Amino acid sequence: MSSIVIVGAGECGGRAALQLRERGFDGSISLVGTETLAPYERPPLSKDGIVAAAGPKFIMDLAGYDDRGIDLKLGTSAVAIDRQTKSVALSNGEKLAYDRLLLATGARPRPLPDTFGTSPRVMSLRTHADAMRINAHLGGGKRIVIIGGGFIGLELAAVARGLGATVTVIEGLPRILSRGVPHEIAAAVAARHYSAGVEIVCDSRLESISPTDRDVLVQMAGERTIEADLVVVGIGSIPNVELAEKAGLAVENGIRVDDRLRTSDPDIFAAGDCCSFPIKHYEGRRVRLESWRSAQEHGMLAAANLLGAEEPLAAVPWFWSDQFDLTLQVAGLADPSSHSVKRDLGNGAFIIFQLDDAGRLLAASGIGPGNSIARDIRLAEMLIASGKAVDAASLALPDIKLKSLLAA
Ligand SMILES: Cc1cc2nc3c(=O)[nH]c(=O)nc-3n(C[C@H](O)[C@H](O)[C@H](O)COP(=O)(O)OP(=O)(O)OC[C@H]3O[C@@H](n4cnc5c(N)ncnc54)[C@H](O)[C@@H]3O)c2cc1C
Repeated sequence: MSSIVIVGAGECGGRAALQLRERGFDGSISLVGTETLAPYERPPLSKDGIVAAAGPKFIMDLAGYDDRGIDLKLGTSAVAIDRQTKSVALSNGEKLAYDRLLLATGARPRPLPDTFGTSPRVMSLRTHADAMRINAHLGGGKRIVIIGGGFIGLELAAVARGLGATVTVIEGLPRILSRGVPHEIAAAVAARHYSAGVEIVCDSRLESISPTDRDVLVQMAGERTIEADLVVVGIGSIPNVELAEKAGLAVENGIRVDDRLRTSDPDIFAAGDCCSFPIKHYEGRRVRLESWRSAQEHGMLAAANLLGAEEPLAAVPWFWSDQFDLTLQVAGLADPSSHSVKRDLGNGAFIIFQLDDAGRLLAASGIGPGNSIARDIRLAEMLIASGKAVDAASLALPDIKLKSLLAA
């Protein structure tokens, strides 16, 4: 094999390119990215980094790619894949031949329906460029409305409030974070936001967003109108699957891959936020994750399998979020219908464990200041991976070390 093309120069694509060289691949590697920046970390964009003048946190500086002979094609999109000739057409007219291809195209923010129109004061947050645009509207005295009580919107709410803005979060469902964490955790997050002065309005329907000369008017069902300097829409993401779809690859809530990250074409792999994959720890259920660590793990595994390693996915999903002084972590896939047990760690920190009927741990979701929950969540991850039944009563008792349950 002499040439590998990677489409998508984000967390996953960048890690994959570097890992290919780590594994000794000496053929050509092209890393194609729509954004003009080399791969960088997205998590800081909704945390303190949104105000960092230091610029993006790069995975590797440009010289590092150069030293490794990785051809970065930035500010360029892949527009078509020809599976017969095994080549990728780029927006700059170039064609890249591949022996193996990795699609790491990520996801993009879900927009509001077209009926809401557009305005330069209505934005979403995915890229460094988005963060810089939002940054220009943050600060004391500003009025920010965030549509959607998901992780990114709430992180941004915390940062904006910390900078002195008036912040209102509008959520359509009865509670925030309904996708992904148990209600006790969501309630703790909401309480922290309330105490900092963030207004969260749940069960609320957005009627219209109308720009005026000075700001925007956000009209909600039930007559309430909020004047805002900035509206940030955080209502989820859509996987970037169009390139794969056009090439006739199977797509199912993301580019469909097997547990080796291989698509329906044996020479094309997909990884990171753009793909859906069967997850071993949950009876092969197909999932698509939007998680920094998962994107990294996929990138590393994709590199191995592009080179023929045939290694299966084995990681337990893991996600974190920072809001004010709290860190939230989730290991596994939270399932609201499962039996749950609370472990109180004191000082406001606690973990909700969710178990299946056989007593196996499905998920552990924790929240607390600083690093207070990190160790237990790491052990919970190992318990989930082990697939063994756990004594639920012991999980509730902080004096019983999770390590001992793992060893039992
Ligand atoms: C603001 C923000 C905060 C986050 N915070 C957290 C967090 O706290 N914890 C956590 O676990 N996760 C977090 N995440 C999620 C995490 O950053 C993503 O899961 C991760 O970046 C996914 O990596 P990826 O490489 O699959 O996709 P991306 O990072 O989206 O990279 C995909 C790249 O492919 C490019 N691309 C798409 N189509 C083409 C094409 N046709 N041709 C060329 N290039 C193309 C895109 O422009 C993009 O640059 C956050 C994400 C955001 C946006």
